[in-house]
Amino acid sequence: MSEKFVVIATDGISLSGMTTLTEDDRFEVLVPDGWTDEEMREALGRAHGLIVRSTTKVTRELLGQAPNLKVVGRAGVGVDNIDLEVATELGIPVINAPEGNTVSAAELAMALILTVARNVSWADASVRSGAWARSKFSGIEIRGKVLGLIGAGRIGTEVALRAQAFGMEAIAYDPYLTEEHAKDTGIERAELADVIAHGDVISLHVPLTPQTEGMIGEAELKAMKPTAILVNAARGGVVNEGDLVAALESGEIAAAALDVYTTEPLPEDSPLRGTKNLVLTPHLGASTAEAQELVSSEIARGVRAALLEGDLSQALNAPAIGGESLEFLRPIMDLAGRVGRVAGVLGRGGMKRVGISVAGLDEEILGPLTAAAMTGVLTPVLGARNVNYVNALHLAKGRGIELGSTLQPPRDDYAKFVEIVLETEDQKVRVAGALLGEQHHPRIVQIDGYELMVQPQGCLIVLRNNDVPGVIGRVGTLLAEHDLNIAEYIQSREAKGGLALAAVSVDGRVSPEFLGTLSEDGDVLDARAVYFDG
Ligand code: NAD
Repeated sequence: MSEKFVVIATDGISLSGMTTLTEDDRFEVLVPDGWTDEEMREALGRAHGLIVRSTTKVTRELLGQAPNLKVVGRAGVGVDNIDLEVATELGIPVINAPEGNTVSAAELAMALILTVARNVSWADASVRSGAWARSKFSGIEIRGKVLGLIGAGRIGTEVALRAQAFGMEAIAYDPYLTEEHAKDTGIERAELADVIAHGDVISLHVPLTPQTEGMIGEAELKAMKPTAILVNAARGGVVNEGDLVAALESGEIAAAALDVYTTEPLPEDSPLRGTKNLVLTPHLGASTAEAQELVSSEIARGVRAALLEGDLSQALNAPAIGGESLEFLRPIMDLAGRVGRVAGVLGRGGMKRVGISVAGLDEEILGPLTAAAMTGVLTPVLGARNVNYVNALHLAKGRGIELGSTLQPPRDDYAKFVEIVLETEDQKVRVAGALLGEQHHPRIVQIDGYELMVQPQGCLIVLRNNDVPGVIGRVGTLLAEHDLNIAEYIQSREAKGGLALAAVSVDGRVSPEFLGTLSEDGDVLDARAVYFDG
C-alpha cells in the first residue's frame, strides 16, 4: 500500500507513548497544534484514525467531515465526549484504553486512604492558617486494619496488593470474583454486609450499573463502624451523596474521601464542599504522567490494530447493523442478550462456563448468538457502556470464561428458543427465552426449571420463596409502599407447599435496600433485580 494511514492525535495526547504509530512509516500522525478550523477540516477529510482525550467532542458534525474515518480512539476510559450512537450508525468503531490507568487509580485510592487516616489535608490547612495543632491531628495506623473492597477487578485488586504491603487484611465483596483470583491475590471473599460491618477502610471499585447505583446509602452507612473510612474513587452515583453528608455530620462514620461525584464538575453549591471529615479531589485517578503515557500507547496499539488488521475486539460500539440477514437476526440476538442478563444477575460466584443452546434456528447463527448472549451475561458485571456484541467474546476470554454453543432439535412448544446455562464456582443457573408469534415477542420462559412466561423489559425482580399463603400479598404490599407499580407477577412452583420462583416486572427501579427489605421476609429466600434498559 503506497498511501499512508492518516491519524489525528488531538487534545495534547503524549506522542512519546505512540511510537507504534509515529515510528512506522505506514502511518502519518498529525497533531493539531494551533490549527485553524480550515486546517482541521482538511485533516479530518484525510483522516483514517482520530485519537482524542476528553476535550474534543466527537459529534455528528465532526464525523461528517471525516468520510475516510475507520476508527476513533479514546485515550482513557470514559467516552462521554463521543457520540457513540452516531459513530455506530456511521459504522465507525470507537475503542478506548481501559487498562493504562489502573495503577494510577489504585495509587490515588491509597493516597486518599492515608490522607484521611493521618489527617494530612486538614493538618496542612491548619499549619497554613498559622496553627500548630499536633494533638488535634493524631491519626490511626492502617497496619492491622481491615480493607473492605467493594469490587475487586483491575483497580480493586491493585489496591488490595498495596494495602497488604501496608499490613492490612483485604476482604472483598465482588459476586464475580473467582476463588482462584482471590487465592492468588490473598483477598478474602465476603458478602456485602460483612465488608460493610467489618471494614475499617471501605474502598469502592465497581462500575456504575443499575445494581451499583446508590449501593452505599443510609442503611449501609449506618451499618459501618463509627471509626470507618469510606473511599470512592470509582464512579459518582455509587454512593448517595446526601446520605454521606448526613453520616459524616452525625459521626456515623469517621471520615471519607471522594474523587468522583454524581455531577462533575462538582457544583459550586454542593453540600459536600462544606462537610467535615471529608477529603475531595477533582477526579484525579488517571491524572499522572505515567497513566497518560500508558494510555496513549494502549490506544495507539488499538488504533494500529484496527487500521492494519481490522481488529475490533476492543471496540465499544457494535458496527452498524444492516443487511437482510442481520435484520432477521436482530430479535433473536436481542432475546439472547436479555436471557443472558437474567443469568448474569442470578449467577453467584466467579463465572466458569457459559453454554448457549438454541432451537429452531440455523447453525450459522450460533456465533453471533453467543456474542449476544455473553453481552447480556457480562452487562451486570461490567456495565452496559463497556460491553457489546463486538467485544463480549474478547472480554469473556479475558475473564477465563469457557464458552460453548449447541443446536437443539426443534421443539414442540416454542419455534425459536434460546437457553443459557451459566456455571459459576458456586452454582449453575439455567435461563431460557423464546420468541412468540409472528411479531417475535420476547419472553423469559424458564428459570432453573421453573416454567414462566414473562416479558424481559424494564426491571424484573426474581424472587425465590416458600410456596406458602401470604407471600405474594406481602411482596405486593411492600412494592406498593415503595411506590413501585407491578406490570406482571408470575409465580411458578415445584410442588404445592414447596419452593417457588416469582418473576415480578415493575415500572421504575428498585434500590438495593428495597431488595434487602424483601429478603427480610422469612419466606423470601433470595431477591435480585435484573434491568433490561441500562
Ligand atoms: P473492572 O471491570 O476491572 O472491575 C470492576 C469490578 O467490579 C469487577 O471485578 C466486577 O466483577 C465488580 N462488580 C460489578 N458489579 C458489581 C456489584 N454489583 N457488586 C460488587 N462488585 C461488582 O474495572 P476497574 O478498571 O477496576 O475500574 C473500577 C472503577 O474505577 C470503574 O468504575 C472505573 O470507571 C473507575 N475508575 C476511576 C478512575 C478515576 O479517575 N477515579 C480511573 C479509572 C477507573
